[in-house]
Amino acid sequence: MDVVVVGAGIAGLACARALVEGGARVRVLERGRVVGGRLASKRYDGRYADIGAAYFVADDAEFAAQAGSWEARGLARAWTDTLRVYPGGEKTTGPVRWAAPGGLRSLAADLADGLDVRLSTQVGEVPADADAVVLAMPGPQAVRLDPPPGIVAAANAQTWQPVIAAVLTYPERGWDDLRGAFVNEHPVLATVCDDGDRRGDRAPVLVAHSTAALAARHLAAPEQAGPILAAAVAELLGLAATPRVDVHRWTYAQPEPTDAPYAQDGRVWLCGDAFGRPRVQTAWLSGRAVARALLA
Ligand SMILES: Cc1cc2nc3c(=O)[nH]c(=O)nc-3n(C[C@H](O)[C@H](O)[C@H](O)COP(=O)(O)OP(=O)(O)OC[C@H]3O[C@@H](n4cnc5c(N)ncnc54)[C@H](O)[C@@H]3O)c2cc1C
Repeated sequence: MDVVVVGAGIAGLACARALVEGGARVRVLERGRVVGGRLASKRYDGRYADIGAAYFVADDAEFAAQAGSWEARGLARAWTDTLRVYPGGEKTTGPVRWAAPGGLRSLAADLADGLDVRLSTQVGEVPADADAVVLAMPGPQAVRLDPPPGIVAAANAQTWQPVIAAVLTYPERGWDDLRGAFVNEHPVLATVCDDGDRRGDRAPVLVAHSTAALAARHLAAPEQAGPILAAAVAELLGLAATPRVDVHRWTYAQPEPTDAPYAQDGRVWLCGDAFGRPRVQTAWLSGRAVARALLA
């Protein structure tokens, strides 16, 4: 069986790996210059910061085994089960959040290792030369490939919100014991995480994620959201120092949850984090579910 997977985010890579392990011939086509999609680490002054997913949770047995494999090889580590909630700044305990010393994208690179992944390859239509094509990406991006009606319907049923991420690099660490915080009822700020803490190098770097409302206002010129997010973080944490600010726009950042594990119309499949709660684990499971169905 020849399969083309379009998209080298964690869904596409998990799908491709499982297919190859099951004996299929698989090509992965990715428009970006690197793998990972929203599992994204970008280098600023030689240091990677996580600008997409902030961390991941592994409460599914199979994905927990994957996390365990990454941990055993030093690629991932259990970061924290305690974050803060604002307003107030109280600590809240939940599931263990996992982080990656080399940046979360290193986990996608690990999944891609040994696969036939073709980078910088923008796909304009559903490839014809394969027994099956897996579109492993947000529905609105899949629709641009003119897929069959069942895929268009599933993609159009998805609702997405944008996020702007701001990487704030300070002269020194001016906060204590933050780890990360959910910011509720705030007009511009949704979360802020201590990137030096989760990566483990103690770099003086915070990563802030905007509300969907702020991102929607600044999608055309996201750099304008940078100072707004920096000011919101300064006020929240009482920071006086001025950080260097780098921003990244995610037009399709977070989908509303849906129930099915994937969508299919004939030889075309759609998977990703819209199929379940919008999480790294969901994307991984969705990609694997498509592989299992194809191999069956
Ligand atoms: C700001 C932000 C914060 C988040 N925080 C968390 C968190 O804390 N915890 C958590 O679990 N999850 C979090 N997430 C969600 C998590 O990042 C995603 O669930 C997961 O990475 C999605 O993986 P995916 O493979 O489904 O999609 P993607 O990562 O979007 O992968 C799709 C890939 O397809 C490629 N592509 C698209 N169109 C084409 C084309 N035409 N041709 C070729 N390639 C194409 C894209 O370049 C991309 O690489 C966050 C996401 C964002 C953006």
